[in-house]
Amino acid sequence: MAPHGEGSDASVDPMVAQVEKHPISSILIIIAMQTEALPVVNKFQLVENPHSPFPEGVPWVHYHGTYKDITINLVWPGKDLTLGVDSVGTVSASLVTYASIQALQPDLIINAGTAGGFKARGAGIGDVFLASHVAFHDRRIPIPVFDLFGIGSRQTFSTPNLLKALNLKAGKLSTGDSLDMTPRDEESIAANDATVKDMEGAAVAYVADLLKVPAIFVKAVTDIVDGEKPTAEEFLQNLAAVTAALNEAVAQIVDFICGKCLPEL
Ligand code: SAH
Repeated sequence: MAPHGEGSDASVDPMVAQVEKHPISSILIIIAMQTEALPVVNKFQLVENPHSPFPEGVPWVHYHGTYKDITINLVWPGKDLTLGVDSVGTVSASLVTYASIQALQPDLIINAGTAGGFKARGAGIGDVFLASHVAFHDRRIPIPVFDLFGIGSRQTFSTPNLLKALNLKAGKLSTGDSLDMTPRDEESIAANDATVKDMEGAAVAYVADLLKVPAIFVKAVTDIVDGEKPTAEEFLQNLAAVTAALNEAVAQIVDFICGKCLPEL
């Protein structure tokens, strides 16, 4: 940790500069599905904010509470107003990330959720990954430079101490708006060097980067993408058990964060 009273340091990431010398006081947890979110809500005894900071009529749900010295905000994009299912995917994820940062000004974002894992790259059901990088696999724009924009690869906020202390697995995360995987997606995921795939991470990262808020990505594996079983079936079979592992990891991460400054993570 940088000593107190030190002058500005050009090597310090500007996104952490403001809060780097203060213990983290406010975190924003973004979770796409209700089944994933409710165990965390219960664990920290969060309550739904009756005066939601979001525009009237949107399904986005804000839970909040305090744990030790930290304000915990949890935002779930809610159920689609027409179809009644969880608003998964990049569109809702980026909207709630933007609106939540504007309203809640968090020091750190934790995007937690389930993911598909590649066994060839060492993923197993129930493993919890902390993503070192995120990128998109379904935004193909074969024009120079636009191709890179589409892939949108970025490094996540680095938390080596957290990774070590909690014994999480490290790997790259690839994001797309489909649960299944076409051969073209598979090629892109391989090019992204990803071990896990989800439907929100890179979108949350894009917005967090725009607004200069550090973000980390905690992903628990519900299904093996390069295995025998159909993804949707395996996902539903494992969702409850893996959600428990995810909840446990999020709780440990919040515990680890308490009293620490960003550079200590
Ligand atoms: N059939 C599910 C739909 C969930 S969509 C339902 O009944 O509600 C899958 C969600 O889990 C997304 O939020 C995504 O981020 C994550 N996910 C889990 N496994 C995935 C995979 N193999 N590929 C992409 N996303 C996955």
